[in-house]
Amino acid sequence: MVVDYRLLNSVTESFKICLPKIADILHEISGKKWYSVLDLKSAFFQIKLKNSDKQKLAFCSELGNFQPTRLPFGSKNSTSYFHLLISKCLDDLKGPNIQFFLDDIIIAANSISEMKTRLQLVFDRLAKFNLTLDPNKIQICKTNITYLGFNISANGYAPSEDNIQKVTKFPVSQNVKQVQSYLGMMNYFRHLIYNYAEVVEPIVNLTRKGTPFVWSENCQDAFNVMQEIILNKPTIKNYDESKPLYLTTDANAKSLTYHMNLYKQPDIVKRWLLYLQDFSYNIDHIKGCDNPADFLSRMQIEDVEVNNLFHMGDQLSHSNIKLCQSMDSCTSEIIKKIEEKDSKTCQKYFIDSYTGLLMFKIKSGKDQILNKIYIPRNLVRDCLLVAHAPHFGVQKTYDFIKIKYFWPGMYADVKNFCENCCNCMQNKPKRKTITHSIPKHHLAPGEFLAMDIVGKLPRSVDNQNYILTIVDHYSRYLEAIPIPNTTSNTIIRHLN
Ligand SMILES: [Zn+2]
Repeated sequence: MVVDYRLLNSVTESFKICLPKIADILHEISGKKWYSVLDLKSAFFQIKLKNSDKQKLAFCSELGNFQPTRLPFGSKNSTSYFHLLISKCLDDLKGPNIQFFLDDIIIAANSISEMKTRLQLVFDRLAKFNLTLDPNKIQICKTNITYLGFNISANGYAPSEDNIQKVTKFPVSQNVKQVQSYLGMMNYFRHLIYNYAEVVEPIVNLTRKGTPFVWSENCQDAFNVMQEIILNKPTIKNYDESKPLYLTTDANAKSLTYHMNLYKQPDIVKRWLLYLQDFSYNIDHIKGCDNPADFLSRMQIEDVEVNNLFHMGDQLSHSNIKLCQSMDSCTSEIIKKIEEKDSKTCQKYFIDSYTGLLMFKIKSGKDQILNKIYIPRNLVRDCLLVAHAPHFGVQKTYDFIKIKYFWPGMYADVKNFCENCCNCMQNKPKRKTITHSIPKHHLAPGEFLAMDIVGKLPRSVDNQNYILTIVDHYSRYLEAIPIPNTTSNTIIRHLN
């Protein structure tokens, strides 16, 4: 459940604090032998609200009106108050061996016995403040630990394994666009590569206007050199923390500000804005080719873009979709035709060179073509289950699926699935009408009957979709008759 606190936030006074600089934390803590990381459970929910504040954060739902008793997500200043609490709890312990950033606490030591003492110290303090840890996220006594996206060890700190993998798995470019994408990614690591500009020059030359695309030996050499440097996991000892912090994304500033000012934002944008309103930030636009995040985020788009908000699960991982595509009679037939270079099939479908997935091309507007992953029949239900998890209506569920996926008859499947979702049917808001009871005194049994139809319900095994109800007003005797449809013929037949 998400509560929209924008109105409340707009009139709430800002309570600003300075979060510790991640650089400071890493700088302080790196270079030790042993590490432990502790994670506080459901961070904000650990903070109790004053009675006078509960009313301000009250919300209403179909089940009634409620007041939170703990600090909810999305209310302004939540991060500040949370940081204040943790600071109160741990500030005097903070130093070269104990650091924290919001709900992540890191403890360093040069021996196991030192580590034991420090852990006990932190545990006692957390207990005193009634704060609980998430046992699933605790990492104890490691020589190499991932903390705030960095690997920390006795040697210093280096970018995490995930990003390194992206570089080393990158295929050799086949065209200028892929070269640009590659350079965008390498730009992110350029400060780790000595003499970067010189090393990368042969590849950069390919992007010059009027240069024919030839992946020369020099290009391959440059490519190999950089792969190797990154594979060796360059370790950073320090960076300049006095500079402002930039979060680079590959969304463009125009569309971000456009969405923020829209009166009616799409749900996915609303969720992000609710999340972001806790931060103070400015939006700037960086040209695509200069944007280091361009590549990294695009690499993730395939798996993460939508999954951040709705987890897609293993069934819809690329590898599983690929497997199912190869086993499904319909998709495997298309794949076979593409391999045979059948021109009619190739107009509509192709195999994505990076993921190996069968894709469907959809014309959008004049000359734009969007590529969607072709979902084989036996994965359709999984896809529907995930997309309909928040129990949105037909259109929203459909819009969500069509961002990434395609299969024939998709809309009809979505409609059928949503309309037959038991959860949605039970929670459908009921229209309130003022009713007057019929006076009983001059009625006899069977003299005044009321009929109604309940449905459409999920189809029963014997193909019935509705229930015809008949009530005798005098005796309150009720008959309920399952019927397949609501035509007058069917109803007359059952009345007889
Ligand atoms: Zn539903």
